Amino acid sequence: MSDYNFLMESKLSPRQFRVVNLLAQAASAEGLNFYLVGGAVRDLTYGQPIVRDLDFAVEGHPEKILRHLQTPRPGGRRGEPGPVPPHEDEVWVEEARYSPRWLSAEIYFSSGVRAEVSQCRREDYSQPGKPPEIVPATIFEDLRRRDFALNAMAVSLHPNSRGLLLDPTNGGGDIERKEIRALHSRSFIDDPSRIFRLVRLTQRLGFKPEEKTETWLRSALAQQLQNRLTPEQQGRELEAILREENPARTLKLFADRGWLTALDRNLARLRYERLQKIHALAQKFPEDDLFLLNLDALAGGLSAAQRVRLAKKIIRFPGMLKLALHLEREAKKLSKHLLSSRAASPSQVWRLLSPQPRILLLYLLAYSGQSGVQNRIKHYLFKAPQIQARLPRLELQALGVNPGPKMEEILGHLFFDQLDGKIKTSQQLSKAMRSLAGVREPTPLPPTRTRAKPKKSSPATPAHPSDQHETDQAGARPPGRASQKPGHPPGTRPHAVTPRRKKSPSAR
Ligand code: ATP
Ligand code: MG
Repeated sequence: MSDYNFLMESKLSPRQFRVVNLLAQAASAEGLNFYLVGGAVRDLTYGQPIVRDLDFAVEGHPEKILRHLQTPRPGGRRGEPGPVPPHEDEVWVEEARYSPRWLSAEIYFSSGVRAEVSQCRREDYSQPGKPPEIVPATIFEDLRRRDFALNAMAVSLHPNSRGLLLDPTNGGGDIERKEIRALHSRSFIDDPSRIFRLVRLTQRLGFKPEEKTETWLRSALAQQLQNRLTPEQQGRELEAILREENPARTLKLFADRGWLTALDRNLARLRYERLQKIHALAQKFPEDDLFLLNLDALAGGLSAAQRVRLAKKIIRFPGMLKLALHLEREAKKLSKHLLSSRAASPSQVWRLLSPQPRILLLYLLAYSGQSGVQNRIKHYLFKAPQIQARLPRLELQALGVNPGPKMEEILGHLFFDQLDGKIKTSQQLSKAMRSLAGVREPTPLPPTRTRAKPKKSSPATPAHPSDQHETDQAGARPPGRASQKPGHPPGTRPHAVTPRRKKSPSAR
């Protein structure tokens, strides 16, 4: 059987893995049994290269976990850059929304990771197509109320059983056979949105419905159960499609069948070419959620009033809605600033871009034709994190600087000087570090005849002004799974929510 601790650490992106640990720690502190569930477990089991979003189930109140996470970020929330770059492990809750009706919390983290934490429950459907009665339950009951066997697996995140797989309906077997199996004959009648989910999953994974499921599906379509979806449910479906890596294909299929008409009659006549641009971006940023960009590309053919109406139907977070409606305007503003004297050096660019929503930068990468804008954003997205990941925390500790504000201040200087190319070699870095830490340079040994010739100085970290920086980023990736970062001592900011990354014995 697969080792899920290893799979989580190696297959989830570092940003996702941090969120898993952060939530698991919060649940454990609250004494709650906590599980990774749904698509993430399916994708880990199937060996998908990318896990899209994280779904969790908790035996108890999700609100307890939310409350546990509400620790403010030192140095300001989004919109105000901290005095120094945040520790790479630092992550905080950007927006969260708890739905008492569904016993479920949707959370957006500062790192762009999205997570849903739902209370384990039973769903009792008394009337077809009507919302179920929801009753808190155990994880095993919760798994049995889910849509398909391959989505009804859980991995325990409790410290005593972390990594244990629960698969009571043999979803693992279905994944091996590449089949999607509904858990009972009334599945599509109880909740017709499962018809849409099934079609979307077959498109994405290339799996087939299992034989009986296929029969139930045909019968549901013959009864036109899919037309019973409320606009809210259709909105959820459209949202899910716009999170697909290649939404154009699925959108066309849905629109041709008239499945999204309750949302907007015009969706069926829209052209999907603009989506291809975002699809191309998705190849370069596979771990980013490009939902807002896809929505923007899709809604480009609607009038302003129709766009607002559609966005309001599918976006539940006020901050995100505002951003969605003003992406173009904000991007224009930012692009102007990026070409002004306010962004003459890479450190100024960093200060300008770090409080911006990441999706705005990706928007500019997709649409800006100005090389100055493209280069500055690429430098910020690719180079700055490399420097940040190699900041010499351990070395500073060895020089006697303890984790805390002073260390952060020194790291800030070292970070910005490397960004601006003022520190280029490891010797320069070491010298600057000692000087900032107030430690004297070691006295050089007197030269002896037997001493080897000094070697050429080695570069500290790449630090180029962004204008010299090559536009061709082929092969470069944002720090993620592909560029594993070297280990760092635990977070140095006393109040930051900084989960610690433990190496499991089986880790590489
Ligand atoms: P994705 O990779 O697109 O996120 P997913 O399977 O995780 O796929 P979500 O919409 O995130 O899809 O839902 C999380 C989980 O919640 C599902 O895997 C499934 O177990 C359960 N679920 C979602 N919608 C339904 C539904 N309509 N009926 C039953 N279970 C559902
Ligand atoms: Mg999911």
